[in-house]
Amino acid sequence: MTKYFSTRSESVTASAPEAILRGIAPDGGLYTPLDFSGMQLRPAALLDKTAIEIAAEVIGKLLPDFGADEMRALVASAYAGKFETDELTPVVPVGDACVLELFRGPTSAFKDVALSVLPRLIAASRDKLGVTDEIAILTATSGDTGKAALAGFSDVPGTRIAVFYPDGGVSDIQRAQMVTQRGANVSVCAIRGNFDDAQSGVKAIFADDEANGWAAKAGVRLSSANSINLGRLAPQVAYYFKAYVDLVLTGAAALGDEVNFVVPTGNFGDILAGELARRMGLPVGRLVCASNANNVLTDFIRTGRYDRRREFHKTLSPSMDILVSSNLERYLLLASDGDFALVQRLMTELRENGVYEVPAALRETVRRRFCAYCATDAEAIETIGRVWHEQEYLLDPHTAVAWTAMERFRREVGTDAATVVLATASPYKFPHTVLRAIDGETPADGFEAMDRLRALTDVPIPPNLAALRGQKVRFHDCIDRDEMLAYVQRAIAK
Ligand SMILES: *Cc1c(COP(=O)(O)O)cnc(C)c1O
Repeated sequence: MTKYFSTRSESVTASAPEAILRGIAPDGGLYTPLDFSGMQLRPAALLDKTAIEIAAEVIGKLLPDFGADEMRALVASAYAGKFETDELTPVVPVGDACVLELFRGPTSAFKDVALSVLPRLIAASRDKLGVTDEIAILTATSGDTGKAALAGFSDVPGTRIAVFYPDGGVSDIQRAQMVTQRGANVSVCAIRGNFDDAQSGVKAIFADDEANGWAAKAGVRLSSANSINLGRLAPQVAYYFKAYVDLVLTGAAALGDEVNFVVPTGNFGDILAGELARRMGLPVGRLVCASNANNVLTDFIRTGRYDRRREFHKTLSPSMDILVSSNLERYLLLASDGDFALVQRLMTELRENGVYEVPAALRETVRRRFCAYCATDAEAIETIGRVWHEQEYLLDPHTAVAWTAMERFRREVGTDAATVVLATASPYKFPHTVLRAIDGETPADGFEAMDRLRALTDVPIPPNLAALRGQKVRFHDCIDRDEMLAYVQRAIAK
């Protein structure tokens, strides 16, 4: 049985099924593997495999408590027929760069890659552990996780899900995707506040249940679909391997060459998956962390000082509007070679003072592996327009932040290695912004913007988004952060 450690204590451990069911560790830490010696995977062994087979291999290595056959069946049923292409996450050349399209799933966001698999990992974990309680998923979303999680869990037996999103903090289309979600086991609620408020509210609910045990009394177990869940992280590692294989097969890289990845980052989940891929043996060069005006990670990677005491900006890339990047905690444990006391101290400082500074050796480790750049809304808009007019490729605002970072990275670091930009959303999830960027137009309505964008570019609208129009709104609730606990307790009592 493989052990996963809470980032905050060496003595708080779990097996993979336990970690996946719990979501967060009882001490507030995040479950993380530390010893990767049994998880090595050679890209050469993956060259003749399909995307689904690669995913099963990678996830199976990271979560070996699941048998190989079991994992293959689980992954195949999670993905088969749900993505626009059997490649799942295709790499497309754009100019002299490569774009890894992570948005070809059922809700047009990269979170589909993980959230198609997570419900099945949770169901399998429940069976393995002989748990009969219903699993209640609580999720804070900055826009994309919510819909992808709702779609993944909708009517999955033995589960229910509640999603909280910041009121006014998501796009029209994202909101429409969530509030029209079908399924008897789903609920969706707006929070007056920003994403961090929603996320800290969810964490407080977990803490309250840990202390008072009300969920168990109702025959329910709380868990999370946020990227704090180990089962969310593992499927994301797979597309780094898949992208590498694609580069080798197309001749853009030779086996063994290092490849750089530019990752639009919020909670540090997607980019941490790249670090896990590196620890599993993938030749990852630099991981380039791309942020919007909420550039707390840019400063951290450059200086070693994490300081959340700054203005929160609502930007045109809302899924990255985050000042507390939860998954960085996992990286701190990995990069410090398992210094639990250090992580515990830094997290206490962050909670109490809003700031911490890592020791010099750790700062240098971070700098060797990562680069960081941030882009303003105006820069992202300029990039969307320019890349469309020069390359006829449509970037969404998050991917535009990454593209801008890629350009700076190339200018400043002058790398010869192949560089892959992770594209995390369909441009049609943010049609207002994209339309404004390429044509200066701003129709009032999101669907009108979609149509205009389609007419101007001929880029097809993903079917799931086209189908949203006219669907019935099922959820109207909007509450304060401190009402979240009562809301969940009421939902569970039903
Ligand atoms: C969630 C999200 C991100 C950021 O991913 P993290 O794992 O939070 O770093 C970037 N772009 C889009 C479109 C997203 O939905």
